[in-house]
Formats: sequence, structure tokens, C-alpha cells
Amino acid sequence: MSAAAEGTLHDGDGRVLAGVGVSAGRVIGRVKRMPDPVQPPADGAPLPEGADVDSETARLKAATQAVAAGLKARAAAATGDAAAVLKATALMAGDRTLLKSATTLVASGTSAESAIWEAADAVATQLTALGGYMAERATDVLDVRARIVAELRGVPAPGIPDSDEPFVLCAVDLAPADTATLDPAKVLALVTSDGGPQSHTAIIARSLGLPAIVAATGTTALADGDLVFVDGITGTVTRDPGPAEEEIAASYANRAALPDFDGAGTLADGHAVPLLANVGSGSDAVASAEAGAEGVGLLRTEFCFLGRDKEPTHEEQVEAYRAVFDAFPGRKVVVRTLDAGADKPLPFLTDDSEPNPALGVRGYRTDGATPGVLARQLAAIAEAAELSEADVWTMAPMISTPAEAERFAQLCAEAGLRRPGVMVEVPSAAVLAGQLLQRVDFASIGTNDLTQYTMAADRQLGALAELNDPWQPAVLHLIQATADGGRAAAGTGAAAGPGAPAGTEAAAVAVAADSAAKPVGVCGEAAADPALAVVLVGLGVATLSMNRRALPAVAAILRTVDLAEAQRLAGLALGAASATEAKQLVRAELPDLERFGL
Ligand code: PEP
Ligand code: MG
Repeated sequence: MSAAAEGTLHDGDGRVLAGVGVSAGRVIGRVKRMPDPVQPPADGAPLPEGADVDSETARLKAATQAVAAGLKARAAAATGDAAAVLKATALMAGDRTLLKSATTLVASGTSAESAIWEAADAVATQLTALGGYMAERATDVLDVRARIVAELRGVPAPGIPDSDEPFVLCAVDLAPADTATLDPAKVLALVTSDGGPQSHTAIIARSLGLPAIVAATGTTALADGDLVFVDGITGTVTRDPGPAEEEIAASYANRAALPDFDGAGTLADGHAVPLLANVGSGSDAVASAEAGAEGVGLLRTEFCFLGRDKEPTHEEQVEAYRAVFDAFPGRKVVVRTLDAGADKPLPFLTDDSEPNPALGVRGYRTDGATPGVLARQLAAIAEAAELSEADVWTMAPMISTPAEAERFAQLCAEAGLRRPGVMVEVPSAAVLAGQLLQRVDFASIGTNDLTQYTMAADRQLGALAELNDPWQPAVLHLIQATADGGRAAAGTGAAAGPGAPAGTEAAAVAVAADSAAKPVGVCGEAAADPALAVVLVGLGVATLSMNRRALPAVAAILRTVDLAEAQRLAGLALGAASATEAKQLVRAELPDLERFGL
């Protein structure tokens, strides 16, 4: 591994810039930078010098028309989510009410920039007040406003740049709205100077199968048109690539094709490792079922209601959950109750004035501050489950104590939900997994949060990306402790009475009865890393849940090892002194990673 990949910022001549590789792939391409966000004009700025009301109104109209036409053309050329987002934005750019309010302001002597800024503000505020679908349109208005102001200033429009040629997209970080218009046919690779392995950018890059590097601080100096080699495997960006890099990129392009996932995750010895999907909507679930997912290991219910300022109604919830359940008749679907807070704020549950939201009232904890929402959600899940044929399991995020696990199991029972579980995302839950699992039926490890809390490193902070790595041996030890807890709690539960505390003789007997172990899965991003997936299985993890695009790679690599080998590799990783060493030691033992370019 190069010095750069070991964590130094760059090599001697600054040609190699290092970050953290978060999505595999090796490509050469020219840089296009994400434009800087549009800065607001001064409040009520007067007409520019030399302009009069007529010329300023004409300038405003021309800018608005140019933005609407540009968006319409892009919408016509796009597909799927991107087309829908662009179409909605184009419609907003041509909105007569918006233009009328802005021209009225220009007529009163305000500059076109300030007028459109102020007019859009008023429209966005009105839409937000209407709530529901209309409130969600407020973001489109604000996006249109930024585009019109950029047009008036003659600077590049915000958002993903447009280009006829494929390019390497360089940005500080990407916002969720940007990624909806990211066209994988145009973007060769993603490089950000901020963001961590668990950041939105990283998750999206993996879901689109794009090579990606985050936390590459040195890349802020790259300019439009620079030729670079991006290596998402080592996490390096090389300026002015030469024959050596061309050869690596060419051999990556000629890598062995990954077989499609056939719908049954197994090791080489036939040991089954069900491979499930992480989903956030019904359409996601349908696509995941088509990709062969054996069920859903994580339904992020808050994704169905992000941006909503009011609790969704019972009917809305039943409909959203059913859309997912119906994609998996007869299959397991693990629903996570609302995980509001920190990186996923929901105004009806979270308090945005908290000084430290990641350590605040989030996930299951919101039930104390806003009682009732959780019970109502469980009732909606139960009704949707009743109406569908899916095998519905329900888990709570951010569980920290056995008492919380017990209460959640009670709430599930009261709602008529048969399979209560907990997410293990907080180190206390991993340490006491045996006790937690005596009270519920299963656990699913959220390695994204478990890593940030174990390493005390904000998952969104690029500067801490090296700490925020699920290969950190400390995180792997907690995963092992959780899997051990599942075995120690075998045969326990509400029906079986209190179980044997971990470490007792009874627990040892339970360990022997592995088949009766309470299942412990992983649904964090770690499960989508094929090499780490092998380690997780070796640590005792029973199921892996991931973005559907990761299924073929994880399935292919799992099939190259038997259980004993997975356990040996897990031992290597546990004994390593750093995340880099753990990853290096394990990857060196899995030659098929290189063959498939993973
Ligand atoms: C996790 O923390 O690993 C997880 C799966 O939950 P989220 O990423 O939604 O916080
Ligand atoms: Mg989490």
C-alpha cells in the first residue's frame, strides 16, 4: 500500500493526494468542480448603476427564462429520480406568481437579484406553512432562486455541473438534493474534501457504483479540466497520470465481471448468510427484490417522512410500510422505528436547539420527550403487517440499556408485533448485548453509529474519517461482543423467562447451541464492504443488510471462503493495531477482490 493510502496527506511532489476510499473503482478523467453555493444578495439592494426598471425587469425575465429552459432540457435528457427533480425545478423556475412578485419588487426600485431572492423567500415560507407535499416544494423554490441569481451574476449554476463529457466530480461535500441529479453516466468518480465513510456522499456513491474518495483535503486545489487518476480502492487521487496509472485503470476496466446475485448468500461450505437490503421506500424495496435481496434488513422509516413538519397520519404510515412489505411476500422485513435526530432531523420529534444532537434525544430516546409517536407508529406497522404477507420484524434505533430493550419489547407486544429487536449502535448496547438479547428476539448492528460512538468521531466530519472507519479493531471487538451476546441469550426471551447472563456456565451451554442463538445482523455500511463482510461473518454475524448494489460483490466474495477461514480472517482483523492494518491483512488473503476490482 502506498504511503498516501497509509494516511499521509500527499507524496513528496504533491502529485498523489490521499483521502479515504469509500467506493471501489479506478478511473482517469478530467475534473469538474461543484460550484460554490450562491451567496445571498444584500437585502433590498437598489437597481444597479446605469439600470432602470425596464432594463432590470428585462434582465430578470431573461435570467428566469434561461434557467427554466436549461432545466427543461436537462429534465428531457434525464431519467428516473433525476428527471423528476429537474422537471419539478423547471416548473418552479417558470412559475408566474414568483416572477410577478419579483417584478413588482423591481418596479419599486430593488435589484433583480434581491427581488427574486426576497420573492422566493416569501413563496417558500408560504409553502412550508401549508405542510405536507407543498412544504417539500419549498426546497425547489430555493434551488430555483439560487439558479436565477447565478444566471444574473454570470457564475456557474449551483448543483452538479452539466457537461457533455464524463467527468470526475470534485466537491467539498454533496447535499442530499445534489445527489438526486447525479447522472452516473456522466460522473466517472466522486472526490470530496470533506465527508466521512458514513457520509451521505459515500452512501450515494456506493449505491450508484461510482468510485469515490472522501476526506481528500488536498483536492480543494484541483481545478476544472485537471486530469486525474482516481483510485477508490487505495483512496488516492493522482494528478497528471502517466503510463503506470493508465495501465492500472485499463486493467480495472478489464476486471472480471461480477456474477449477478442469485438470491442466496452462502459461504464456500454452504453456511448460509442471508443477504438483505437496506431500503427507504417502496420503490427501493421493489428494486431490491429484483436484485435478489433475501428480504429487508433495514427499512429506514424516517426516510419515508423526511422534511415533514408533522407526524404522518396512521393511513400514510400504513401505506408507506405496505409498499415495502408487498415487495417481499413471505420474506423477512425488518422495520426500524423512526430514527429522528442528528443527521436525520424530523421537526415533529427533534429539538434543533440541542447543543450536541448526536448525543441528544434521538432514535428511541424521542419516545421520552414526545410520547405517543412511537406507539402510534407501532400500531401502523402492525396494521400494515396484518394486511401483507411479509414476515415483519421491528427494531428500535439507539437502544442503550436492557431496560430500554425490555420496554420496547413490551410496546411491540402491546401493538401485536411478534418480533421485537434492537439496533446496536451505542457501545453500552454491545457490551451488554447478552442482557439486551434476553429481552428481545434479535439485534442488528448499526456500524455507522457504533463506529462514531466507539471512536468518539462525528460520522459526518471529514477530518475524522480515519477514526470513523468500521475496520477499527475496537469496533470489531464490540461486534464480536454483540454476536457472543446473541449466543449467550439463546433460548431466552419473554416466553423462556430470564436468560443466562453472559459469562455464566449456562451461557456457555447456550454458546454451544449456536443454532438457537438470537440472530445478530449488521445493517450499517460495513456490511456492503465485501472484505469486511467476511470478517463480520467470522465474528459471528448471522445476516448482512446493505444497499442492493452491493449484493453481487458481497455474495461473490463470501463464496470464496468457508466459515473456518472467515473466522481466521476475523482473528487477524481483531489482532490488528489499526483500521488500515486490519483491512490490509484481510484484503491480502482475499485475492478475488483484486480479480473483481473490488
Ligand atoms: C447505522 O448507524 O449503522 C445505521 C444503519 O443507521 P443509520 O445509518 O440510518 O443511522
Ligand atoms: Mg444509525
